[in-house]
Amino acid sequence: ERIISANLMMEDEAVELSLRPRYLAEYIGQSQAKENLKIYIEAAKMRKEALDHVLLYGPPGLGKTTLSNIIANELGVNIRTTSGPAIERPGDLAAILTNLQEGDVLFIDEIHRLHRTVEEVLYPAMEDFALDIIIGKGPSARSVRLDLPAFTLIGATTRAGLLSAPLRDRFGVVSRLEYYTVDELSFIVSRAADILQVGIVGEAADEIGKRSRGTPRIANRLLKRVRDYAQVKGDGIITSEMARLALKMIQVDDLGLDEIDHKMLRAIITHFRGGPVGLDTIAATIGEESQTIEDVYEPYLLQIGFLQRTPRGRTATASAYRHLGLAVPSADGK
Ligand code: ADP
Repeated sequence: ERIISANLMMEDEAVELSLRPRYLAEYIGQSQAKENLKIYIEAAKMRKEALDHVLLYGPPGLGKTTLSNIIANELGVNIRTTSGPAIERPGDLAAILTNLQEGDVLFIDEIHRLHRTVEEVLYPAMEDFALDIIIGKGPSARSVRLDLPAFTLIGATTRAGLLSAPLRDRFGVVSRLEYYTVDELSFIVSRAADILQVGIVGEAADEIGKRSRGTPRIANRLLKRVRDYAQVKGDGIITSEMARLALKMIQVDDLGLDEIDHKMLRAIITHFRGGPVGLDTIAATIGEESQTIEDVYEPYLLQIGFLQRTPRGRTATASAYRHLGLAVPSADGK
């Protein structure tokens, strides 16, 4: 696994639990999403009603799970957590729904991966807080409607485009989470260092923030690695020198790119003259899965403007050439 992967790794789990902010006020950045949610939460509490269903979407590691837990916390209700692929049959979802209490939050991660038949149970549940059950078989079968407690569904997805229209339309609140700025990430790193009780100077936190690909999960992971390094090689305090040495050792460059990013950009530039080149060809050239490149690695390279997507494939931009220390080809081709 790559250190700069935004996907959850085993090593993250324990640390993430302790670093996870618990209230909106501790949740850094995402001001747009936060402002909206603050008002809706307040209003729901005043009316003593369940909050509208919320859809959170955006790349992995940006804080969707964290925000869902915060919403439940701010509402003062319980949260039940599951994920799209974990709910195998309609009956599994029915069991979860009937066990909720009035006002509870049901969090479904990777909601775009719900099975079709399970999704259909969600429609009346979300719309009317009801469960339609079929009793009997054949001509004597009939449908019975069961009331459910009023609840809030929070769905999280990295691929909003894969959600079916009827499901998407049933969310009253839709929030897109954005990549974090370096300042926000630096703040997240300083706060995490505080909780982990390690000393860190501001510049070192900035250094880690810069290399975290806009993603708090990566920031926390890099901090952990740098902390280990500072403990062994220094006196435990993370100075900017320590941070730079540690990050150099784990081969994360000053924009958060690792060896594979470099390999991919170099392949596009040297084998395909900067592109355009199809995703599958890139994948085959560097020995990675196309899906992984598209979901996990490419979004950040697009975000920082190193790659462009064209109908004929990916192209490397002039910034990518410069970052790799390569001469930018002139407009006429050479
Ligand atoms: P997602 O569900 O989008 O994949 P998570 O909610 O699991 O992401 O976030 C990963 C980790 O990053 C969390 O455990 C938390 O420590 C940290 N984190 C995420 N968002 C924030 C934030 N806004 N402020 C501080 N830390 C955050």
